[in-house]
Amino acid sequence: MLNTYEIIHEIGRGQHGKVKLGRDLTTGDFVAMKIMNRAGRPRLGLSLRHGSTQEEKIRREIAILKKCNHPHIVRLREVLDDASSKKIFLVFEYVELGEITWQNDDGTPAMTAEYSRSIFRDVVLGLEYLHHKGIIHRDIKPANLLMTKQGVVKISDFGVSFISGLSGEDDELELAKTAGTPAFFAPELCYNDPDLPRPQITNKIDIWALGVTLFCLLYGRCPFTADNEFELFNVIATDPLVFPETPNIPESAKNLLQNLLEKDPEKRMSIAEIKRHPWVLEDLSPSQREKFLSEELLSR
Ligand code: ADP
Ligand code: MG
Repeated sequence: MLNTYEIIHEIGRGQHGKVKLGRDLTTGDFVAMKIMNRAGRPRLGLSLRHGSTQEEKIRREIAILKKCNHPHIVRLREVLDDASSKKIFLVFEYVELGEITWQNDDGTPAMTAEYSRSIFRDVVLGLEYLHHKGIIHRDIKPANLLMTKQGVVKISDFGVSFISGLSGEDDELELAKTAGTPAFFAPELCYNDPDLPRPQITNKIDIWALGVTLFCLLYGRCPFTADNEFELFNVIATDPLVFPETPNIPESAKNLLQNLLEKDPEKRMSIAEIKRHPWVLEDLSPSQREKFLSEELLSR
């Protein structure tokens, strides 16, 4: 037991600790509790050098989550933060089906293109909301997309997210620091030559990661791969996008991928363009289309 919660069993484990299934005995609701160590060890001393401690990182994750109220963003119910405890508990709504499964054991895609498209639309709406709020998620990937039993997809894991205005002068520095998952890094994050001017980092890195994610869903594998990280960064920055010989992927979906995985962040698609892409809208009825294109939830 913890406060009003009964802790049932572990449901996830990530970089930042364990996630456990719990139940609020006052309401009967299931919850997901992300358990984080207040102190934690700073990775490679990076966080110390830039003056951001583990506890500060947790506070940032909480501050960002508290700003979010949207059907496609996982909801933080409350934070259990007892000064006498070494741990901080983030209590989330429980998203029953957990991470979306995108790859079968044999490396083939786990879903149809139509199903990928409906997941994609949910993520686009969630991302539109985040970007509207000045939040860059920085770790968009299938493992951070959770599905409810009704098939609604929610963006989760704001562990490396960034919000403009919160860290003041350190914004640029914070953004430039590599964070997230290398296979999903945008080209502008892959330039590590100190002699070259560093490209500006913007929310377009999430659009790239969204493209990598859609590619994963459609093809069951990542678009850019290599044997080591150094090589991977070269591949992402310079190799052209190549589509596997998978049948049943329409040309319009490939056109969308090509524009999401555009190496130049300035030419890369915007959310508004993505929302109006023919493949994205194709199977929606006029009223569904109107709802999808409406921006009424953005002001929440
Ligand atoms: P990390 O920052 O360590 O990656 P995450 O927030 O991504 O932590 O959580 C780790 C895993 O726990 C997720 O990938 C998912 O499987 C599970 N999980 C997290 N939050 C929830 C939730 N609200 N509902 C169901 N499962 C969750
Ligand atoms: Mg995660």
